[in-house]
Amino acid sequence: MTAQEWPQAPFTQAAPPLGNQYRDDRLLRSWLRRALAPDVARSIEAELDELGAVAGGELYSLQIADRLNEPVLKQWDAWGNRVDEVEVSPLWREAERLAVKHGLVATAYERALGRFARLAQFAKVYLFHPSSDGYTCPLAMSDGAARTLLESGNRALIDRAVPHLLSRDLARFWTSGQWMTESIGGADVGHSETLAVSDGRQWRLYGRKWFTSAVSSQMALTLARPQGNPSGGQGLATFYLEVRDAGGQLNGIRVDRLQDKLGTRKVPTAELTLDGTQAQLVGQSTDGTRAIEPMLAVTRLWNSVCAVSCMRRGLALARAYAAQREAFGRPLLNLPLHADTLAGLEAETWGAFLMTFLLVELNGRADCGEIDEEQRALLRLLTPLTKLVTGRQAVSVVSEALESLGGAGYLEDTGLPQLLRDTQALPIRDGTTNVLSLDALLRSDLDEGLAALMGRASACLRAVSEPRLAAAARQAVAAMERAALWLGSGQDPQVLQAGARRLALTLARSLQLALLCEHAQWLIDRERDGRGMAAALRFSWLPVDLMHQVDPALDRQLLGD
Ligand SMILES: Cc1cc2nc3c(=O)[nH]c(=O)nc-3n(C[C@H](O)[C@H](O)[C@H](O)COP(=O)(O)OP(=O)(O)OC[C@H]3O[C@@H](n4cnc5c(N)ncnc54)[C@H](O)[C@@H]3O)c2cc1C
Repeated sequence: MTAQEWPQAPFTQAAPPLGNQYRDDRLLRSWLRRALAPDVARSIEAELDELGAVAGGELYSLQIADRLNEPVLKQWDAWGNRVDEVEVSPLWREAERLAVKHGLVATAYERALGRFARLAQFAKVYLFHPSSDGYTCPLAMSDGAARTLLESGNRALIDRAVPHLLSRDLARFWTSGQWMTESIGGADVGHSETLAVSDGRQWRLYGRKWFTSAVSSQMALTLARPQGNPSGGQGLATFYLEVRDAGGQLNGIRVDRLQDKLGTRKVPTAELTLDGTQAQLVGQSTDGTRAIEPMLAVTRLWNSVCAVSCMRRGLALARAYAAQREAFGRPLLNLPLHADTLAGLEAETWGAFLMTFLLVELNGRADCGEIDEEQRALLRLLTPLTKLVTGRQAVSVVSEALESLGGAGYLEDTGLPQLLRDTQALPIRDGTTNVLSLDALLRSDLDEGLAALMGRASACLRAVSEPRLAAAARQAVAAMERAALWLGSGQDPQVLQAGARRLALTLARSLQLALLCEHAQWLIDRERDGRGMAAALRFSWLPVDLMHQVDPALDRQLLGD
C-alpha cells in the first residue's frame, strides 16, 4: 500500500449512545403500568423521565469525565493536627445533590404514596445507580438506618437523626454508615472485638472496624460488645454514633486508611480505630444483633435493585453497540450468534428485575401495614434469595456485556471495566452468596417461606393461558417442588449445608421463571406485546433446576492435598 492509498479519514467507531434510561426501558415502564395505581404512576412519571434523561445524559458524561478522580484521605493539616478529612469526587457531590433533590431515601417514607412508596423510590434508584459511581451505597445505609431507628422506637434517636436522613434539603441531609465487619469476622460477626464501656452516663467504644463504606457519612450504626456481655452474637448490641462533634472534631475516631479495592473505588471505604467514641444504645444492651436487622434487610433490597440496574446498563451499552458496530458486512445485532448471546442476557435481566421488584412491592406493603402473613413470610425468604441470585446474575451479565463490545469493552474510558468491577462488590457486601444461602436454609420460618414461595409460583401458573407459557410455568413449579422434596427428605445436616447454595439458586430461578410467565401473559393480554413471552421462553431454556446429588466425601478428597 502506498501513502496515497491510506484512507484520508481512518475509521473510528462511534461510541454507543445512551438515551433516556427511563424511556428506553420497556420492561420498567410496563412493570410500573402493571404494579402502580394509575394516579401514583401519573404523579411520578415526569420525575422518572427527568432522572432517565440525567442518568443517560449529563450524569453519565460526568461519570466518564470524572473517571480518574478518587476520594482522598487527608490525615494531617499543615500544623500537625490529625484531621482525617475525606475529599470525595466531583461526581459524588453532584450525585448527592441529585439524590436529595429526588428524595432517593425520603420517597420511601412518604405516606401519601401508600404501599407504592417503595416502588416509586426504587424506580428512581434503578435509573440513578449505574451513573452514580456507587453513591447509592451511603443512600442504602441511610435508608437502613432510618428504618432501624424507626423500628427501635428510640424516640431521642429518631428525633435527632431521622429528619436528617429523610431531608430534601442538601444543607440538612445526612448519610449513615453501617460499621459491622471487623478483621476477625464479616460473615461470622459474632466474633466482633469492639468493646462498649459505660460510666453510667455515657457509652464509649473501643475497637477496629475493617470495612466502613462511605466514611464521609455524618453518622453510623455499629456493633459493639457491652463490657461484661457474653461472647458470640448474643453478647453484641447496636450503637448509634455521630462521626464528628458540633465543632467538626472527630468523635474518638481515627481513619487509618482508605482501602485499595478492586471496584467501588469512588466510595471511600475505610479502616477505622474507635478510641473512646461516644455512642448511644439503639435498643437494649442485651439485644445481640437483633436491633440492626432492619438495616440488613434494607441494604439487601438496595443491593438487589442496584444489581438489576447494572445488568440493564451493561445491556443498554451492549445493545447500542451491536446496532451500530459492523462485522462481516452486517451490524452485530444481525449476526445470529451475537443476537443469541444478547437474548440470553436480556432474559436473565428480565427474570432478575421481576423478582427484585416483587421484593420492592412487598416491602412497600410491609412499610404501611398492608401485608398478610403469607406475604410477610414470602418477604422474609425473598430478601436473602433475591440478593444472592441477583448479585451472581449481575456479575455474569455485565461480564458478558463487556465482552460483547470486544476489545472496546476492555478499555477504561468506555466505562464498562468500572461497571464490571463495581458489580463484583454486589455478591460480597451485605452477605456473600454462601452466607445468604445458609441464612435462607437455616431460618426458623423456612416452612412458611417455602409455602408462600410455592403459593406465589402456583398463582403465576394459574394466571397464564398461553400454552407455551403454561408449560414454562409448570417447569418452574416442578423445579421448586423438587427442591422442597430434597429439603424434606431428612438429609444429613452436612449434606444440607453443602447443598444450600444449589437450593437457594433453584428456588430463586424457578420463581423468576414463574414471574416471567405471569408478566408475559399480562403483556400479551393488555399490551399485545410478545417480548415478555420471548423472555420467559428464553429463560426456561437456561438452567433453572440446579439440584443435583453430590458426595461431600468426594469433595473433601478433591480439595485435600
Ligand atoms: C465493596 C465492599 C464494601 C463493604 N462495605 C462494608 C460496610 O460498609 N460495612 C461493613 O460492615 N462491611 C462492609 N463490607 C464487608 C462485607 O460485608 C464482608 O466482607 C462480607 O460480609 C464477608 O465477610 P468477610 O470479608 O469477613 O469474609 P469471611 O466471613 O471470612 O468469608 C470468606 C468466605 O467464606 C465464605 N463463608 C463464610 N462462612 C461460611 C459458611 N458458614 N459456609 C460456607 N461459606 C462460608 C463466605 O461466603 C466467603 O466467600 C464491604 C465489603 C465490600 C467488598
